[in-house]
Amino acid sequence: MSGMRSDTRLSFLCDRNLGKLARWLRLMGFDTVYLRTNEPEGMRRAADEGRVILTRKASVRGDRVVHIGHDRLSDQVRQLAGVCDLTQGPGAFTRCCLCNEILTGMAREDARGKVPEYVYATRESFSRCPRCGRIYWRGTHHDRASIRMQALLKGGRT
Ligand SMILES: [Zn+2]
Repeated sequence: MSGMRSDTRLSFLCDRNLGKLARWLRLMGFDTVYLRTNEPEGMRRAADEGRVILTRKASVRGDRVVHIGHDRLSDQVRQLAGVCDLTQGPGAFTRCCLCNEILTGMAREDARGKVPEYVYATRESFSRCPRCGRIYWRGTHHDRASIRMQALLKGGRT
């Protein structure tokens, strides 16, 4: 595990029981593959790509495997933060939490009619997932969730 802290480009694979954690990691900007099935091929590819493999299964073995021992997301994040430096991520809201695609900026006018009126009126910038078309903006419940989690990583209370 010693190499993980210094990784500048931390990326992950979450196995099928860790869907929430996968979404959170993407929200924080980390390249995260979510494996819905137990296909060995997906695991091998992830290992080849140098991903940290997150699993709840004790039977999965490897240098870069972290066995997650908790059900609650906040506990899972806390455990992971103990072995990987999650504060050095690419930044929240750079990646689609559903597709793992990197978000692209969009002109503010293009968001008109596609997001709630009050959101359009109060936000300066929007970004979009090139794959699913989902539009992101600061100040969503995801944003608040991530701020809470960031505080958690720093040992703060929320
Ligand atoms: Zn997407």
